[in-house]
Amino acid sequence: MNPLAEHLRFYQELGVSGVSGDRTWRERLDCRPPAPDHVEDFARATPTEATETVPVTIARSAAEALAAIRADIGVCTRCKLHGLGRTQIVFGVGNPNADLMFVGEAPGADEDIQGIPFVGRAGQLLTKMIEAMGFGRDDVYIANVLKCRPPNNRNPEPDEIATCEPFLFQQLASIEPKVVIALGAFAARTLLKTDAPISKLRGRVFDYRGAKLIPTFHPSFLLRSPGYKREAWDDLKLALSLLGRSLPGTSPGVAD
Ligand code: URA
Repeated sequence: MNPLAEHLRFYQELGVSGVSGDRTWRERLDCRPPAPDHVEDFARATPTEATETVPVTIARSAAEALAAIRADIGVCTRCKLHGLGRTQIVFGVGNPNADLMFVGEAPGADEDIQGIPFVGRAGQLLTKMIEAMGFGRDDVYIANVLKCRPPNNRNPEPDEIATCEPFLFQQLASIEPKVVIALGAFAARTLLKTDAPISKLRGRVFDYRGAKLIPTFHPSFLLRSPGYKREAWDDLKLALSLLGRSLPGTSPGVAD
């Protein structure tokens, strides 16, 4: 079990149903022990404003934990992307208790408008890939390394990754997926902290934050280079085998 979930469960077992952000309540309790850093990070509302007036709750479920992370992100101005034309934050969608999580690079134009990851052309192919595995989009969880669209879909920059990545880590810690599929070179290299090309990374299984991580090609790349769909399908089958799922029939949209 990951340390955050273990910690929250420990508090839950102690009978703690929530904590108050009210200053008077807190100051009454001189003996209150300092909260561990990761819970503090997890529970605060925004990093730049005082937390005293913001009610915080210890999450009882992955869904609550995700809602708290979303609230923490707020209307984010932590990195320069907020001033470079992004419309809104694209947090993530799907089943908070998913065994399978997909992680892409960053929202594109369609995602930026709708506030939902992978809804454009690449997203439609990703949906086909998910369905070919025998799932629906609601069964899995889908997120990106960056929550905001880089201008003109340029590559995410190191300072943007450093600022945004902790929220992805918090999402992973809340969802606790068994398998993470990293979509494309950028997501795979960022998560695995490597410069290796995607052709060297895909088809392999990596231990990653309590999950198994499988890099595969990005759906945008597969749209441009459909000849690689068969290898992508092999990666999805590898993920299914790690999930202990039997193979559904192959999908013409993905496997051909
Ligand atoms: N590409 C990504 O990496 N993420 C999206 O959400 C959409 C396109």
